Amino acid sequence: MELKFGSEYDEFRAEVREFCNTIGKKTQRSAMRLGEHRPTQEVLDWQATLIEHGYAARTIPKQYGGFGAAPDIVQSLIISEEFVRSGTRGGIQNQGISMLVPTLLEVGTEAQREKYIRATIFGDIVWCQGYSEPGSGSDLASLKTKAVVEGEHFIVNGQKVWTSSAQYSDMCFILVRTEPDAPKHRGISYLLMPMDEPGIEVRPLMTMTGEAFFNELFLSDVKIPVSNIVGKRGEGWHVANVTLKYERGMIANPGASASGIRGLAELMEEETISGVRAIDLPVYRDRLLKLQGRSLANKYHGLRLLSNSINQESTGVEGLTVKLSATYLSYDIHSLALDVLGEFGTLYDNSAYQRHKDWMRQYMSTFMGIIGGGTAQIQKNVISERGLGLPREPLVKLDSNGWDLLKKK
Ligand SMILES: Cc1cc2nc3c(=O)[nH]c(=O)nc-3n(C[C@H](O)[C@H](O)[C@H](O)COP(=O)(O)OP(=O)(O)OC[C@H]3O[C@@H](n4cnc5c(N)ncnc54)[C@H](O)[C@@H]3O)c2cc1C
Repeated sequence: MELKFGSEYDEFRAEVREFCNTIGKKTQRSAMRLGEHRPTQEVLDWQATLIEHGYAARTIPKQYGGFGAAPDIVQSLIISEEFVRSGTRGGIQNQGISMLVPTLLEVGTEAQREKYIRATIFGDIVWCQGYSEPGSGSDLASLKTKAVVEGEHFIVNGQKVWTSSAQYSDMCFILVRTEPDAPKHRGISYLLMPMDEPGIEVRPLMTMTGEAFFNELFLSDVKIPVSNIVGKRGEGWHVANVTLKYERGMIANPGASASGIRGLAELMEEETISGVRAIDLPVYRDRLLKLQGRSLANKYHGLRLLSNSINQESTGVEGLTVKLSATYLSYDIHSLALDVLGEFGTLYDNSAYQRHKDWMRQYMSTFMGIIGGGTAQIQKNVISERGLGLPREPLVKLDSNGWDLLKKK
């Protein structure tokens, strides 16, 4: 593992730091995050500034509106480190930019790239992801929403659930079953669905944070042009997995816990328990240090994966563990913050008595990372089966009473 990046990267870091300390300082609060509403004009302007300087859409080719830099993971890491260090907020982070755009670059048609990438990276088109259905979450390939071809259109009928941001979205990348007689993984297609088509009903679902983050989608005879298919008909499972690869990368940044640890240490310096600063209480300090140890381990683990990737080596089982460890670490950091805050930790930002930042809302959000993009239990299955070569879990089938029937092979 190489822990020094070399002098050309020192220069690059100085350049990014200069940007953060000057232009970045003035616009710190203007970026938006996953699940927030449509970007305001201020956010769109900040996004355009970031793209112009190469700190958003950095490797997206210029012909599609990006900055057009050659891929360089060390540069991307330095940008991320400097933005976190200086508290400069990044650009728009949503499912369109982080998941659909790289998918179109990898497997989309030229016409799809021309039509959607520029408008998506500049924040003009907001996308949602229509994968999960009632009964088809972890077992995504069992999805039932069906599409049949009539003339120049797919006609789509079915139901989706947990569709984040659908109420604000212009487009949806959706999985549908087009080959009902094929084995389940082979009968799926990946379509780009305009959200203003007749027949789409969006019903917001209230989450425990008190916001309508997710939605149900009801689809009745929705018409989607046949040219809006990504990949071939019946081969959408492959495309879906390309998108999932980018989704997991978006959720699990191994270095992201550093700012959480810093915020937690500050909180523990300010808050007292029975008149003693939390950071001076051995039990709390011990928990903080253990978390810091895990955070550093994640950071160096991330660097090891980076070295693998630069040397074009497989990341093996180590690569599979990142989402699981990063999302649990985030949960544990926020749990300690709530313990330190005591009864104040139960308050949301709409309370006049809330102190510090909104730890409670962020704590609730850590569950999202643990579940979204494949739950922790599914990650454990993947690590044990694909990474460690352990036997596959037994296939389970439910009978009409909900009892598990062990399938005989
Ligand atoms: C923040 C967030 C955002 C999301 N956004 C979207 C979105 O925009 N679009 C979208 O399509 N979906 C979205 N989802 C849905 C997400 O992909 C599903 O919640 C996830 O795949 C799990 O599916 P499920 O909820 O149906 O749970 P289930 O699959 O029903 O699982 C229920 C429980 O059983 C466990 N389980 C299931 N199978 C196994 C197994 N084989 N072995 C061990 N344990 C198992 C699971 O781990 C889980 O604890 C989002 C979810 C979250 C939390």
